[in-house]
Amino acid sequence: EAKRLGDGQTVEFSPVFEAVMRERLDLVARLQEAISRSEFELFFQPQFRATDRRPIGVEALIRWRHPERGLIPPAVFIAICEDSGLIVPLGRWVLREACRFQQRMAAAGWPQVSVAVNVSALQFQSGHLVEDVRLLVAEYGLPPGALELELTESIVMENSDAAITTLQRLRDLGIVLSIDDFGTGYSSMSYLRRLPVDKLKIDREFVNHVDQDEKNAAICESIIAMAHRFGMKVVAEGVETLEQLEWLRKHQCDALQGYVLARPMPFDDMLAALGPGK
Ligand code: C2E
Ligand code: MG
Ligand code: MG
Ligand code: MG
Repeated sequence: EAKRLGDGQTVEFSPVFEAVMRERLDLVARLQEAISRSEFELFFQPQFRATDRRPIGVEALIRWRHPERGLIPPAVFIAICEDSGLIVPLGRWVLREACRFQQRMAAAGWPQVSVAVNVSALQFQSGHLVEDVRLLVAEYGLPPGALELELTESIVMENSDAAITTLQRLRDLGIVLSIDDFGTGYSSMSYLRRLPVDKLKIDREFVNHVDQDEKNAAICESIIAMAHRFGMKVVAEGVETLEQLEWLRKHQCDALQGYVLARPMPFDDMLAALGPGK
């Protein structure tokens, strides 16, 4: 492919660039095929209440079960799905699957455990999200609090008034809203105070070594204090050691998620790990 310049000249792209572009196009086509062949699946990672370590939620995390290459993590394909628009149909599929599994959680004796879904920017701005969620809530008879959406700071910071309206409408449907990877984006305090969200998830960058690193400790303490003053709950993601877990519990973090408690797992394994529901 050659790029046209203003005066009608063209420049040749390097062979390496062309190869990269071709590989990307191949991957987009392959991802499209993967959607129609149902090669995606959801893994689930539990979140626990810090005080008594009761399971209170599970986060749905997508995986691509490639027939030859095995399990492929989202880091490899989510960005390409966003750039190509494929994230919209894929995100719709994730939402429906999550609702189906929430019903199965409830049937297995965990009705109070919510299912959290990651929402991408394009999906949030598509204009279909609220209506999609409304239909799913009705179809699956989801009670308030059963479905949670995780959004990043950048998603809700852009186009703030429209975003706030969307968030409010989702909340009216009984959806719990959380800000994912909190602290890594560009939240302004003045904007945060207007956001109708229920939870902040502290990014694992700050949770890491929180028990040993003074600055991470200061950041986590500040986020927890601010969230509580705003009436929000705080979840720590990426908790990897018992020392971090203990530090977070002592500093009033509400919920914990991380490898030290449970890894993301296929649904049946996750249910087995939780044991019998009450
Ligand atoms: P995220 O939403 O921040 O999810 C947390 C990530 O941290 C997950 O990676 C999880 O496996 C990993 N994690 C959990 N506990 C620990 C820990 O103790 N230590 C470490 N080092 N990592 C931990 P995963 O599953 O690879 O997902 C990566 C990202 O891909 C997610 O980050 C999310 O942004 C995106 N993603 C996943 N599923 C979906 C989806 O269905 N839709 C969209 N739009 N994005 C998704
Ligand atoms: Mg998340
Ligand atoms: Mg996160
Ligand atoms: Mg993250």
